[in-house]
Amino acid sequence: MIKIKSPQQIEQMKAAGALSKAALRLAGTLCVPGATTLAIDTAVENYIRLHGAVPTFKGYGGFPGSVCASVNEQVVHGIPSPAVVLSEGDIVSIDTGATYQGWVGDNAWTFCVGKVSEQSRALCEVARDCLKAAIEQAVPGNRLGDIGAAVQELAEENGFGVVRDYVGHGVGRVMHEDPEVRNYGKRHRGVKLQVGMVIAIEPMITMGTYDCETLGNGWTVVTADRLPAAHYENTVAITADGPVILTTDEDGPWCSMEGGAR
Ligand code: MG
Repeated sequence: MIKIKSPQQIEQMKAAGALSKAALRLAGTLCVPGATTLAIDTAVENYIRLHGAVPTFKGYGGFPGSVCASVNEQVVHGIPSPAVVLSEGDIVSIDTGATYQGWVGDNAWTFCVGKVSEQSRALCEVARDCLKAAIEQAVPGNRLGDIGAAVQELAEENGFGVVRDYVGHGVGRVMHEDPEVRNYGKRHRGVKLQVGMVIAIEPMITMGTYDCETLGNGWTVVTADRLPAAHYENTVAITADGPVILTTDEDGPWCSMEGGAR
């Protein structure tokens, strides 16, 4: 069942969204050669708790981290670890969630660690642009298929793959609500978007095959061919005035992929 939010509730969700985004920006500053993904996780958890919120992912279904940190061929749900040390040329998806005053904000960017290959850079740029194109479709009267098709068309035009096994989702008082928000599909198909829906749009774009596998830890999703993947996510409200990104704040750019940048 899709839970429709009132304008007042959407206003309340902005606080959780802003905190989640600020945590994500903090994480990005730490994505430098030599950093461990556990150090990033610890910094984000401290930041979120310092602001009176709870890291949404911690303990979710037993997930051990406060962030998902997914390096290179890892698509999503990478577990932060002292053994995962970032190197020049890596790309790392950081996904942060904050629960604040009863509402969830969920967002992700993929950061470039130092100088990365042209191919990896292009993958990140296209994945980011897929998110942007998808958000533009998040208007009342459109359908979920318009969002999926926007992502799929742009990714495939650029020779990249679109992950099928994992999808975006409704967001509200819990992280995962209805509906499923696929990153592929046909225009004019699927659930009609209406004012008050809040969804996490999160394209997962691959350099090679879109087929995925889950590692033995039960969490970490990798591409079947072990080629890199990129992942960008915003929590977006559908309003009469168009899409409103809730995971936003005044202080930073809409999106950044520069690891180590302030
Ligand atoms: Mg999500």
